[in-house]
Amino acid sequence: MAIHILSDDLAAKIEAGEVIERPASVVKELVDNAIDAGAREIKIEIRGGGQRLIRVADDGGGIPAREVETAFARHATSKIDSADDLFTIQTLGFRGEALPSIASVARVTLITRARGEDAGTQIKMDGGKQIEKRAQGAPQGTIITVEDLFRHVPARLKFLKQPGTEAGHIADLINAYALAFPHLRFAFINEDRLAFQSPGTGKMFDALVKVLGIEIANQMIEVGRWTLDVGSDPSNIQHPREASNIQVSGYVSPPSITRSNRKQMLFFVNHRAVQDRTLQHAVIEAYHTALMVGRAPIVALDVTVPPDMVDVNVHPTKSEVRFRDTHTIFTTVQRAVRAALTAHAPIPTITFSPRDYPAPTESQLAIDLHRPLTNYQLPSSNFQTPTIQPANYPTNKLPMLRVLGQILSTYIIAEGSDGLYLIDQHAAHERVLYEQLSETHRQAQGAGANIATQDLLDPAPLQLTPAQIGALETHRDALASVGFRIEEFGGQTILLRAIPAVMKKSDPRATLVEIIDELEQGEAPLEKSAEARLITSVCKSIAVKGGQVLSLEEMRELIRRLEQTTAPRTCPHGRPTMIQLNLGQLEREFGRK
Ligand code: ADP
Ligand code: MG
Repeated sequence: MAIHILSDDLAAKIEAGEVIERPASVVKELVDNAIDAGAREIKIEIRGGGQRLIRVADDGGGIPAREVETAFARHATSKIDSADDLFTIQTLGFRGEALPSIASVARVTLITRARGEDAGTQIKMDGGKQIEKRAQGAPQGTIITVEDLFRHVPARLKFLKQPGTEAGHIADLINAYALAFPHLRFAFINEDRLAFQSPGTGKMFDALVKVLGIEIANQMIEVGRWTLDVGSDPSNIQHPREASNIQVSGYVSPPSITRSNRKQMLFFVNHRAVQDRTLQHAVIEAYHTALMVGRAPIVALDVTVPPDMVDVNVHPTKSEVRFRDTHTIFTTVQRAVRAALTAHAPIPTITFSPRDYPAPTESQLAIDLHRPLTNYQLPSSNFQTPTIQPANYPTNKLPMLRVLGQILSTYIIAEGSDGLYLIDQHAAHERVLYEQLSETHRQAQGAGANIATQDLLDPAPLQLTPAQIGALETHRDALASVGFRIEEFGGQTILLRAIPAVMKKSDPRATLVEIIDELEQGEAPLEKSAEARLITSVCKSIAVKGGQVLSLEEMRELIRRLEQTTAPRTCPHGRPTMIQLNLGQLEREFGRK
């Protein structure tokens, strides 16, 4: 075949393959257009999961009669004019692909009347061809109906799921719009039934109530309008001038409310719903270890950045973006969420002296009957507690527990006001140690010091793989900051000279290798988290093990300290520290109710 230029219709069909994957993609493009047209009310109707019919009606600016045909031409748009405009995009659409794409794979009827025009226009398209155009009385705005989607594209038709599933995707999408544009009123009608309606009050919380239900919405934690304060910590920012322009706001769930996947982690960048791993990661990191492994929080976060800091022209569906400075975005989001979570479950106040910062000694960290957790004998008050917003969210806290005994030398049985608790002694101790050591580390860092070390009497040479050496190099500072002192010995051998003072008991070399391996596999992008993981590993190595008999006093002390942690229900690895059998369950199991 000789080289030739594809017909417009074929090119449109190819483009449609990228833009229109399923009925929800059509809804997305049409709702985007309605929002770009300045609509206040947007009504979405579907039948047959959207395959048979999608109708989107808006009260926006409408399309002038003389432009209606052009709107269906390929690469026709009223939203950008020059390449420079690509860097200052304020609209959701700009590629001019949606209408021609949809029209090439479905039957489309568009009725529109532009502001200031007396009559409206109706135009009908089928398989990319115009089949009718005439004047038509219509309210201001646009009503677009898409029928028999993919009827002529059997390959796509085959890939569609059950109508219920496709309708579910559309419902999710409209929920997200309602959260991203709380000042707009969305209505979703599925098979003649009103399935969802947002109030359009302008408050994200009101939309959240509609999306999650009042019960969960009430427990969500507000992430305050958070602007990165550059002055306070310039070291973390690559482009300080821009950083102050990033704003994060929205809601995240407390660690006690999670989902098994990340589908309910919604992110909006300048109100555009995006899939972005950096943002997901920043939020997960903000929860630290309070989330259980494999669980994800519920999130609706709006990130506002100057248009020139984000490239939205990455993918035809515009659901991916590229940030110019990923690091700053990550830091800002992580801190904003962290601040909200901390305010929600405040960390106990600890004061310290920045000059001489002692690491907790082994006996301090060991279970000690006579010492309360927060009495860290640290004078002065250089460390300010984060301000606690007057939040009346239920916390993750434990009730007062009464220790009853130990079973299998591994689990502690305790009683609380609301039932019976089985506590994993190792996991619980890990949590207690983790919070102490992190705090010690944080304060030491604040004072420009490292956690105290313990010199090894006979420094141990250690043979590592190149990958391990690489991880070691990358995290050298982090390792030093928690108390490891390592020297090169030549080739792939290193010399372990000192270990964190608290780690005395364990086999230092084995622990170091374990830690390095973890660092090597780790996916967290920030140094900070490498240190957090180091601390986690150190705690693991010094916590009481399963199989160790504890006295009643020791157990009481452990539980008392656990009660005071910020996330008593999970260990630093995110596994549960306890199982609870509440009163209701007991009564049900014994047939009392
Ligand atoms: P894009 O949104 O990328 O500009 P589309 O193919 O989605 O491309 O739409 C083409 C043009 O048609 C838009 O630029 C806009 O001028 C007009 N248009 C589409 N939908 C509407 C609508 N609901 N209200 C007003 N104008 C619309
Ligand atoms: Mg568009």
